[in-house]
Amino acid sequence: STAEWQALDAAHFLHPFTDFQSLAARGSRVITKADGIWLTDSDGQRILDAMSGLWCVNVGYGQQALVDAATQQLRELPFYNAFFQTATPPAIELAALLAEVTPPQFRHVFFAGSGSEGNDTVVRMVRRYWDLMGQPQRQVIISRVNAYHGSTMAGASLGGMSGMHAQGGLPIPGIVHIQQPYWHEHGRHLSKDEFGFVAARWLEDKILEVGPDKVAAFIGEPVQGAGGVIVPPATYWPEIQRICDRHGILLVSDEVITGFGRTGHWFGCETQGFRPDLMTFAKGVTSGYLPLGGVMVGERVARVLIEHGGEFNHGYTYSGHPVACAVALANIRLIQSLGLVEHVRDDVGPYLAERFEALRGHPLVGDVDTCGMMAALLLVKDKTDGTPFTPDLGLGMVCRGHCFREGLIMRAVGDRMIVAPPLVMTRADVDHMMDLIHRCLDLTLADARAHGW
Ligand code: PLP
Repeated sequence: STAEWQALDAAHFLHPFTDFQSLAARGSRVITKADGIWLTDSDGQRILDAMSGLWCVNVGYGQQALVDAATQQLRELPFYNAFFQTATPPAIELAALLAEVTPPQFRHVFFAGSGSEGNDTVVRMVRRYWDLMGQPQRQVIISRVNAYHGSTMAGASLGGMSGMHAQGGLPIPGIVHIQQPYWHEHGRHLSKDEFGFVAARWLEDKILEVGPDKVAAFIGEPVQGAGGVIVPPATYWPEIQRICDRHGILLVSDEVITGFGRTGHWFGCETQGFRPDLMTFAKGVTSGYLPLGGVMVGERVARVLIEHGGEFNHGYTYSGHPVACAVALANIRLIQSLGLVEHVRDDVGPYLAERFEALRGHPLVGDVDTCGMMAALLLVKDKTDGTPFTPDLGLGMVCRGHCFREGLIMRAVGDRMIVAPPLVMTRADVDHMMDLIHRCLDLTLADARAHGW
C-alpha cells in the first residue's frame, strides 16, 4: 500500500537533493506507472508530467520500440565492456548514428553512464588536450554562476550552485565562474540584445583576469535548465563563440538537457547559433529509459587525442553499455521517424511559446521565457516593476504544491516555475497543461492574497 511504501522509503532511501526530514514527515509520492505524458501514482491518481521525468523522457512513456530493443539486447548480450580493444554492435552503431545527428564537426564519441560522468570526462579531456598541445599551463575551465553540470566532484565544481559548493569544499582547483546571462536579474536596464553582448564580455573579462594562456575551456548549457530555464539573448552565444575563438579556448556545450530535439533542433547549440568543440549529452539520448551519457568530441580535439595521445587513462565500466546503447539507437530512430525535432521546431514549440506568452496577463506572472519544449514563468509581487516576493515565502514551492495536488508536475526554481514536457505532446496536450497551470496560478494568487504577501 502507499503507506507501507512511504514508511519503507522514509526508513531506508536517501533521496537526491531532498531534505530527509521533510520527506519523512510528508511521505513521498510513489509513482507506479506511466504512459505517454501521464504518470500514475500508487493511489491511482493521474499526473501530467510536464518535466519529462527529469528533463529526459523526450519520446514520452510506454514506447514499445525502446522496450523491445532493451529486451532483445538483454537476451543476446546484457553486458560487455569496451576496455579490452573490444566493442559491441549497439555501441558501435550508436557511435555512428550520433556522428550523423550531431553537427558536422563531431565524428567521435566517448561514452559514459550519465551527464555528470560526461562532464568529468570533459575536464580530463580538455586538460589532456592542452598537455598534448604543449600548453600544460592551460588548466582553468570557466563556467557560470547558477549552471548545473552534475553532482560528481568535477560536475558540481563546474556547476555554479552555491548550495552545492558549500558542501564538500567545492569547487575543485582550476574551475572559476562568471555571472549567468539572466536578463531579468542583471540586464533590465538594457535591451535583451545589448545585454547579450554585455554578458558575453564577462567571459572576456575573466579570461583576461586569469590570463589567456592559462584558460583551457569555457563550458555552458545553451539554455540553463536546472538554473530555471534561463534563455539567453540571441546575441549571447555567437559573441561567446567569437571570444573563445579569439583566445583559442575550447568551447564546451553541455547538452544534457538541450540535446535530442528539446530546443527544436537536434542540439541546443544549433538553436543558439554556436559551434562547440565538445558536447556533453545524457538524458534524452535514451529518453531516460536507461542511463547513458557521454561526450561528443569535435575533430579539433579528436585528432590530437587519436594521433598524439596514446592511451587516455579514463573510462567507466558502463562506457558503451550494450543495452543502454540499444535503447539509445531505438530512441534516436524513433525521434527521426516521428519527426519530433521538426514537430518541436515548427508546431508544438511555437504553440507552447504562444500559450506561455499569454500568461503575462496573469497578475502573478512577471516574465516568461521559452525555447522549444522548455518554458519558465516568473512569479512576481509587482508586475509593473518586477518586484519579487520575499524569497523566505517560498512562493514557488507553494505553487509547486498546488500543481502536485492538481495532478501536474511543474518544477519550482526559486520563484521561477518551469516545464520541459515530452516532445511528443500535441497542441491539445499543451492546452490541457495550460489549463492546469492557470488553475494552479489562481490558487497560488489566492494564497498570496489571503496571507497579504
Ligand atoms: N548537465 C546538465 C545540463 C544537467 O541538467 C544535468 C542533470 O540534470 C547533468 C549535467 C548531470 O546529469 P546526470 O544527472 O545524468 O549525471
